[in-house]
Amino acid sequence: MTVARLGDWRRTHQAADIRPEMEGEEVVVMGRVGDIRDLGGIKFFILHDVSGFVQVTAPKQKTPQAILDQISKLTQESSVAVRGKVVRASQAPRGVEVVPSEIKILNLAETPLPLDPLGRVKANLDTRLDARALDLRRQEVRAIFRIKNVALQAIRERLLSLGFVEVHTPKIVATATESGAALFPISYFEREAFLSQSPQLYKEVLTGAFERVFEVGPIFRAEEHDTTHHLNEAISVDIEVAYATASDVMDILEDLIVRAFKAVADRCGSELETLDHRLEVPKTPFPRITYTEALQILEKAGVKIRWGEDLPTPAERKLGELVGGAYFITDWPLAIKPFYTMPKEEDSKLSESFDLMYDWLELASGGTRIHQHDLLVRQLKSKGLNPESFKSHLLSYRYGLPPHAGWGLGLDRLTMVLTGRENIRECVLFPRDRRRLTP
Ligand code: ATP
Ligand code: MG
Repeated sequence: MTVARLGDWRRTHQAADIRPEMEGEEVVVMGRVGDIRDLGGIKFFILHDVSGFVQVTAPKQKTPQAILDQISKLTQESSVAVRGKVVRASQAPRGVEVVPSEIKILNLAETPLPLDPLGRVKANLDTRLDARALDLRRQEVRAIFRIKNVALQAIRERLLSLGFVEVHTPKIVATATESGAALFPISYFEREAFLSQSPQLYKEVLTGAFERVFEVGPIFRAEEHDTTHHLNEAISVDIEVAYATASDVMDILEDLIVRAFKAVADRCGSELETLDHRLEVPKTPFPRITYTEALQILEKAGVKIRWGEDLPTPAERKLGELVGGAYFITDWPLAIKPFYTMPKEEDSKLSESFDLMYDWLELASGGTRIHQHDLLVRQLKSKGLNPESFKSHLLSYRYGLPPHAGWGLGLDRLTMVLTGRENIRECVLFPRDRRRLTP
């Protein structure tokens, strides 16, 4: 069997663009082979490409034997190029077919496939992720990533229109930002370095130069636990804004979330249908409850959390039932927020911080940051961190860094909400977790 190169063949049309009105036209289509059938007098297969599909039909009496032989050799998921004539055919799906005059088999897929890319045979998530290259060809899976793309585009366009500068900060870093335990060490020549947990410190420093910055990039967390919403590598959308406070950046976040929902609702109707997911654009303003109020709501429902403790997942689930939709939890105890979090002026046990929740799931965390050098050093020490290791970072605080606020939004978690998926692994092309480092 010859497996051909592309050579000088080029597509003239995408599959979905082939229409009955084009009857008689010669076209070249390229794509993956779906269902193949042999009905005695006629052989046909479905050719899928990124636009959709078209049927390729070879009536035995009118088709050269060489082409019939090629079709007989085809396997599902092989890549092919077909040159042929468009024929109006009421019995064909979409009322049209391509009758081949030449076929190039570009790559023949081995059989059996480890999973059914047409999705008729259900596979469990691990099997799907092991064969992710094939799994990603499924319409349902592609729908997730198209939605993720559309949401991110809406967010990025809005931030750019608000005068934000998109930045890229180092992912190889010398110190922790969130908490020492969750760092991945790497060997960096003769020293130890770490994979960045968050662009936090860099984006803060950048407000001194650009005032409004954002970054879309990976964060690395050495989370040991196996949950439906944690990965060891995730994509975070981070912003930081000079001369702003927590409430200003909450307004920005709320607006972006609504825009992302609207963009997906407007532009991804067929993807949402494929996923059988109904999207409801959240109403603004999002409810804003304080941490202390959240504890009271939980206590009334019989869930007791001691003031000062972080909300464990079961409590978040309960709160999701009781409040629901998109809402903010503000004014967290300072002690459970990172060292750069600004204490509340009226009560230094509290902080100017917030989490954005969607039902039970934390989507984002943010707040006003400390911009005063001495206070930052005090907070570092109170968290048991050594200010010496933050020496170069602290420099900009000595040189007039403006007051600033920002947040980090988990893009993969936002995608869970937008697509109605319950496991974050479905929303990441090649997820990294405690057990999975390949593919
Ligand atoms: P959680 O409490 O859910 O573990 P976190 O408070 O540690 O999250 P932050 O440091 O606040 O996370 O990070 C900002 C956002 O980045 C989170 O709200 C979340 O959407 C996303 N994020 C953080 N860690 C992960 C992770 N391990 N996997 C996927 N997304 C994450
Ligand atoms: Mg958080």
